[in-house]
Amino acid sequence: MAVPPELAAAELTINLAELVENWRMIARQVAPAECGATIKANGYGCGATEVAQALWTAGCRTFFVALPVEGKQVRDALPEAVIYVLDGLFAGQSDFYIAHGLRPSLVCPEDLHEWADAAGGRHKAAVHIDTGINRLGFDHAQAEALSADADLMRRAGLCLLMSHLASGDDETSPSNANQRDRFAGLRTLFPDLPASLANAPGTFLGPQFSHDLVRPGVALYGGNPLTGKPNPMRSVISLNAPVLQVRDVAAGDGVGYGATWRADRPSRVAIVGVGYADGLLRAMSWPAQQDGPAKVCIAGQMAPIVGRVSMDMITIDVTDLNPEQVRRGTAVELLGKNIGVDDWARWAGTLSYEILTSLGRRYAKVYSS
Ligand SMILES: *Cc1c(COP(=O)(O)O)cnc(C)c1O
Repeated sequence: MAVPPELAAAELTINLAELVENWRMIARQVAPAECGATIKANGYGCGATEVAQALWTAGCRTFFVALPVEGKQVRDALPEAVIYVLDGLFAGQSDFYIAHGLRPSLVCPEDLHEWADAAGGRHKAAVHIDTGINRLGFDHAQAEALSADADLMRRAGLCLLMSHLASGDDETSPSNANQRDRFAGLRTLFPDLPASLANAPGTFLGPQFSHDLVRPGVALYGGNPLTGKPNPMRSVISLNAPVLQVRDVAAGDGVGYGATWRADRPSRVAIVGVGYADGLLRAMSWPAQQDGPAKVCIAGQMAPIVGRVSMDMITIDVTDLNPEQVRRGTAVELLGKNIGVDDWARWAGTLSYEILTSLGRRYAKVYSS
């Protein structure tokens, strides 16, 4: 259901032009490897259909989702795209994948046999081999056995060798070189298969990580792929909401549930109708988890969120702002030029991934390009 902006607490703007620029930046960085796009979890909260269409128009041809239902959504938007389902072949669901032209990323011998029997060499799939994250994927012995069975590979329509990095965002982690070397070893077992290792962070680790195809996700949406370094990506989303009320708070009075913040001077507090039900996580409550307090931007000035984040509201200390500039109806930037998803992530003690995928369903969503 589309939410009209004047009836919603906030307007979430997704700038598809900036998203496309982020994709192009990574595409240039990994060329001549192909740059795909990971658009699982509803395009990291930005809208899988809109994101898929914008990237397709920009030249992206290969898309990765987590679930078969997500794959169908992308297929409905893009009849010709290549779509991989990262969570594997769901038991008994080969027909669904085949009907919608979805390629499973086969994660275990059971997946592979079930798919080979259903596909009979007429439909394609990737094979995912674990190189150290110990999540989904064939182990090394299973991969070796598979590589010796040419008929099984043919019946499964294998067309891509895939693995996933555990610590790509940390260029100092020795596990990157370990996984790179194990993946190089696997490529010699499957010399005919194109290969894909890098997520968004992995595309910043250098050409040895790009192989034939990369699968960036978070960076497309403006999240920083490099922990602890400046963010090379453009900001894609902004979130703006009006002030609902401004109230005076006497020195010594508490604000919000549990009165976790008390005014140490006569104060003014602005209330905005966005809360944890909208993805402004309760962990951002005063004094926040890291680098707090969490802040918003009003008329070009930063102001702290004080007290607890409620389900539908936050309270902001605007005592230091010009009262003329903070009134009922004044626009408040929650995310945008001055505040990014990685700022929210630090304040909440989490990652931009969780911030993006928690973005609320009550916002009026606007796409700009
Ligand atoms: C989520 C995911 C990606 C994309 O990861 P980002 O860190 O968001 O770039 C790539 N590959 C696999 C297997 C994934 O699960």
